[in-house]
Amino acid sequence: MQIRDKLYINGQWIASTGTKAIDVISPSTETAIGRVPEGTPEDADAAVRSAAAAFETWAATPATERAAFLQKIHEGLKARAEEIGRTIAAEVGMPLKLATRIQAGSPIFTFSMYARMLGDFRFEEKVGNSLVLREPVGVVAAITPWNYPLHQIAAKVAPALAAGCTVVLKPSEVAPLNAFILAEVIDAAGLPGGVFNLVTGYGPVVGEALAKHVQVDMISFTGSVRAGRRVSELASPTMKRVTLELGGKSAAVILEDADLAAAVKGTVNACFLNTGQTCSAHTRMLVPERLHDEAAGIAVEVAKSFTVGDPFGDTTKLGPLTSSAQRERVRGYIRKGIEEGAVLLCGGPDAPEGMSKGFYVRPTIFGRVNPNATIAQEEIFGPVLAIIPYKDEDDAVRIANGTMYGLAGAVWSADEERAKRVARRLRTGQVDINGGAFNMLAPFGGVKQSGKGRELGRAGLEEYLEYKSLQLKAAAK
Ligand code: NAD
Repeated sequence: MQIRDKLYINGQWIASTGTKAIDVISPSTETAIGRVPEGTPEDADAAVRSAAAAFETWAATPATERAAFLQKIHEGLKARAEEIGRTIAAEVGMPLKLATRIQAGSPIFTFSMYARMLGDFRFEEKVGNSLVLREPVGVVAAITPWNYPLHQIAAKVAPALAAGCTVVLKPSEVAPLNAFILAEVIDAAGLPGGVFNLVTGYGPVVGEALAKHVQVDMISFTGSVRAGRRVSELASPTMKRVTLELGGKSAAVILEDADLAAAVKGTVNACFLNTGQTCSAHTRMLVPERLHDEAAGIAVEVAKSFTVGDPFGDTTKLGPLTSSAQRERVRGYIRKGIEEGAVLLCGGPDAPEGMSKGFYVRPTIFGRVNPNATIAQEEIFGPVLAIIPYKDEDDAVRIANGTMYGLAGAVWSADEERAKRVARRLRTGQVDINGGAFNMLAPFGGVKQSGKGRELGRAGLEEYLEYKSLQLKAAAK
C-alpha cells in the first residue's frame, strides 16, 4: 500500500487543508493499493498562488538553465523507470512489459526532447521594425486522465516548463501514484519552489477550482469530451487559453490493394492496446464490402492472441480495464452492439471465463456494423472493434469522417501515394500510413470535438508561448 499524505506546493510537501483521502484501487484485485489526499479548492488556490509568485523569475531564467533542469528531470525519471512501470501497471492495469516501455519510456523521452529543443528554439525574431518575442503564457493548470497518466502529464509539464511557464498539476484521481514519483524527481532536481505544484483530488472540486481561477492563465486538459466542455465553460469568463485533448472514434481505412493480413493485424493491435483505453485507438475498421468476411476471419484470429490476465503475468497481453465504472460502461456498449444488430464475431459482455475478480472484459469484435450504430459513433474505451464494410473510396472517406470526433486514423494501401491522398481527405489530427509508428516529435491532437491545440514536438512547446511585438524606432537589427 502506497500512502501519499502530502501535496507538493511551493517546493514543500504539505498536508491538504482537507482531511479526506482517495483510495487507489487495483484493477486486477479490486483492493486498495494506495491512498492520496483529496485536495480542496483551498489547496488549489495555494498552489496557484505559489505558481503565480514563481512565474516572473522562472520566465526570466535563461533557456539553457531551464533545459538543464529538464535534463535533470529526465535523468531522475530514467533512474526510476522500473518503479514507474510497476506503479502504472498496478494502478492502470497495463501489462508490465508494455507499461515499462510505453508508460515509463514515453515521459522519460519527453523531458529530454524538450531539453534538446530549447537548444535551438528561437524565442526572438525580427520582422521589419519589430522585434517579435515568444514569451511564456503564465501559470498553467494541467488536468490529466488515467489511461497513459505520466505520458499525458509529461506532454504538458515538460513543454510548459521549457516555455518558462509555472505549473499546477491535477492528475487523475484514478491513477495518481505516478505523479508523486514525478514530484519527487522534480524536487530532487532542485527546481525553484512554486514552479511545479501537485494537487490531487476530484475533477469537479480541484479541477473546477483551477479552471475558474483568475490567476491561472492557461488550462491544458486531457480527458473526456464532457469534462472538456465543462472546463471550457468555466475558463471562459477569465479568457484563459484552453487546450483540449479529448476522445476519438478513429477509423482505419483498409483499401482493397492493401496487404490485408498486415492491415487487419495492425488495426486490431491499435484498437486493443492498453485494453482499448487509448484515445487514438483505431476502433473502426473500414474494409471493402467484398473483403469483409476474410478481414473478419483474420481479426478474430488476431484477437485470440490477446491473452487476458494479470498485468504482472508473463503471458498477459490484455490487462483489466482500469476501473469498475469503465468495465460497466464497456459491457453496456457490447450489449448495445448486439441489440442494434451488429454481428458478434468474438468476445461478448460476460467476464472472461474463470475471472471473477478484476475489471476484466473479453476482447470483442463486431462485424457488419452500421456506420450510424452507437458502437460505431461513440467512444467505448475498451477492447471493442467495429468492422464496417464500405462500397468505394468515397464511401470509406464519408464513413471515416462521419462521427463528431477527429483525433486519429489510418490508411492501408499497397500504393503509398494513394494512401496519402486518402489520408489528406480525413478530418483528423493524425493518420498512420501502413502502420507508421507514433512519432513524439510530430504534433498530436484533434479536430472537431476531439479537441483543440496540439501536444508533443515543437507545436507542443508553442502552445505555451505568447507573442509580444516590440516596435523599434529603427528597423530591428
Ligand atoms: P475524465 O474527463 O473523467 O477525467 C480527466 C481529468 O479531468 C481527470 O483528472 C478528472 O479528475 C478531471 N475532471 C473530471 N471532471 C472535471 C470537471 N468537471 N472539471 C475539471 N476537471 C475535471 O476522463 P478520464 O475518464 O480520466 O479519461 C478518459 C477520457 O479521456 C476518454 O474520453 C479519452 O478519449 C480521453 N483521452 C484523450 C486523450 C487525448 O490526447 N486526446 C488522451 C487520453 C485520454
